[in-house]
Amino acid sequence: MARRNIYQVGDDTLRQISKPVTEFDDKLAQLLDDMRDTLIYADGAGLAAPQVGVLKRVFVATFDGGNTIIEAVNPKIVMQKGRRVAAEGCLSIPRIHEKVERPRHVVVEAFDRYGNPIVLKASNFEASCYCHEIDHLDGILFTDKSIKK
Ligand SMILES: [Zn+2]
Repeated sequence: MARRNIYQVGDDTLRQISKPVTEFDDKLAQLLDDMRDTLIYADGAGLAAPQVGVLKRVFVATFDGGNTIIEAVNPKIVMQKGRRVAAEGCLSIPRIHEKVERPRHVVVEAFDRYGNPIVLKASNFEASCYCHEIDHLDGILFTDKSIKK
């Protein structure tokens, strides 16, 4: 078990564009294990690698309190449908919750830690989470997109 520090808004690392993973090696497995531990400890739904200071296209997510961990390497949204506005938060932006418009349904193609292709289909909260995490990989924070009234 190894937790990593979660970088906070204002750190330039969160604004960088992450690079695709090319080596599906022990280092990647360690990163994913550490991200899982960090996500569970922080009690979040999703965590992207730049949030722990690693500029690689990787995120982890959980929708059942950490029992099941979704791992996505080099994720891409290949289908999106509908719209949904809901409040979001972020482990890198404490105490802020703002409404963001996202697709209601998404299909994400990615790879697992071994380099096998995977497909993630999600709706509503889970779809928003995937979009939020993939935005992190492009240096985008949810507050950039929030609907302020
Ligand atoms: Zn976030």
